[in-house]
Amino acid sequence: MHIEFSGAAREVTGSCHILRVAGKTILLDCGLFQGRRRESEAKNRALPLPVEQIDAIVLSHAHIDHAGRLPFLVAQGYDKTIWATAATRDLCAIMLADSAFIQEKDAAFLSSRGREAIEPLYRHDDAVQTIAQMCGMPYDHTFEVLPGIRATFVEAGHILGSAAVVLELEEDGATKRLVFSGDIGRTGLPIIRDPRPPANIDAVIIESTYGNRDHEPVEGAREQLARVVRETAARGGRVLIPAFAVGRTQELIYDLHTLARAGSIPKIPIYIDSPLATAATNVFAMHPDVYDRSEELVRQVDDLFDIPLVRFTRTVEESKGLNAMHGPMIIIAASGMVESGRILHHLLHGAGDPRNTILVVGFMAEHTTGRRIVERRRTIKVFGDEILLNATVEILNGYSAHADRTELQAWLDAVRSTSPHLGPVALVHGEASAQDAFRERLTSAGYADVRTPVAGERVEF
Ligand SMILES: [Zn+2]
Ligand SMILES: [Zn+2]
Repeated sequence: MHIEFSGAAREVTGSCHILRVAGKTILLDCGLFQGRRRESEAKNRALPLPVEQIDAIVLSHAHIDHAGRLPFLVAQGYDKTIWATAATRDLCAIMLADSAFIQEKDAAFLSSRGREAIEPLYRHDDAVQTIAQMCGMPYDHTFEVLPGIRATFVEAGHILGSAAVVLELEEDGATKRLVFSGDIGRTGLPIIRDPRPPANIDAVIIESTYGNRDHEPVEGAREQLARVVRETAARGGRVLIPAFAVGRTQELIYDLHTLARAGSIPKIPIYIDSPLATAATNVFAMHPDVYDRSEELVRQVDDLFDIPLVRFTRTVEESKGLNAMHGPMIIIAASGMVESGRILHHLLHGAGDPRNTILVVGFMAEHTTGRRIVERRRTIKVFGDEILLNATVEILNGYSAHADRTELQAWLDAVRSTSPHLGPVALVHGEASAQDAFRERLTSAGYADVRTPVAGERVEF
């Protein structure tokens, strides 16, 4: 049996790995590549393999860099099952529809500018059909993917519904256990449970986004959030937060709620300016079964997201109306990497104003506008215009949805401690510098077989 690495190999986006065992082919994730437009476009349109060769797909979580190419596979004729957790399926229902909307809009825009009509990567109907093929499973329940191939979803603690996938694979009378980590979250993140490392593993595919650094503690992040809100409000400015619609947005709402209850921040309005984030918040509210019951607010409050200060804007007019308003406020808007979405017009109006703060809470990939903000460039490009970056930029790594290098290694150490026959550990979902540093760290911690596969490379186990 072997894994062939297709996406998120020596880079962060486009998660996709091909598992071949006993004549069967299973795809683990099939996400969108994001980054330089032309390059991503070409990669997204190249199928990882002909669809008729895929026997099943198992999905780790709903983020678009993991699930975003599934409707493309379906549009190309994939008609078999896509396995995921129940919450991932519900999140995909809104996220893939949103992604299809963006694909169609971008294609229409490009077609209107060029001479040729450009086909979207996929359409709304393909997203709907994808959801119809998704089977939502509970956590910690072993199910048969195909004869001789069983899977179990275990908590990854990254976003609602996120899972590490444990696969039990039979070939030539032997059974091996592979774990694909998906994206691993931090211990102590609000609302969702902590990651749970699986036992008795023979081979590992593990993410390495932050393989070269440590984050601040989660508790420190909440204090810093309070400080940023207080300071910005005192200047009469706005806190602009680019955030993925799913995950950080709900955690920020939760923590702002906690801070406001404790009187640690002034009572200024909090706008959730993203229809997708609003829909995702509803999906969160549908799945209290997977909340972290050890948290106080989770236990105390009936409806976690029903908070008087929070307003959900729906229409584009409402969103643009925020620009005409005065006084301090907090605006959380997509996209997370500032590549599209409503955050762009908030930056167009707000990035030049030194009273404002741009609060970065998530990972910003290379060649994205978000990365330029993190690097505190003098200008950023929004809708084709160079605008001055005068707003304060604050970076809160504590809210990262991704484990840092210490937490990643702790997860792996826990796996190793229960796995007498641990074989190859393949690093995915990380930029080369992060992967190289993490491989070195693991090697010095006694891991004998750490790989950093490039796209197309195979690892036998
Ligand atoms: Zn993710
Ligand atoms: Zn990811």
